[in-house]
Amino acid sequence: MEYKSTDEKLQTVKSSPDIVSHLVPNTEDCRKCENKSCQYVCPAGVYEWTDWDNRMLVKFENCLECGACRVACDKQSLVWKYPKSGYGITYKQG
Ligand code: SF4
Ligand code: SF4
Repeated sequence: MEYKSTDEKLQTVKSSPDIVSHLVPNTEDCRKCENKSCQYVCPAGVYEWTDWDNRMLVKFENCLECGACRVACDKQSLVWKYPKSGYGITYKQG
């Protein structure tokens, strides 16, 4: 099987983001969360803690729907759904 780098794999993904996030962290829990592990496991850089706003910024339009953040959120404070039908990612052939 041919090896592909992460960047090459990402080029095979097409995204059609909804205007509403399918990823909704509990803001109060995030403020108390010490590790904020969602930031470190996400391969797409979706989560970014903002000191200035004291909340987690969620760039859901970049989500690859891998589910890693759902597992990593040890407080289970993240409502995680697949995007609605017709939205989200599709993989191009090749
Ligand atoms: S791991 Fe969960 S609780 Fe912690 S910052 Fe991320 S979404 Fe919030
Ligand atoms: S499902 Fe995967 S790509 Fe999407 S936000 Fe979670 S870790 Fe990032």
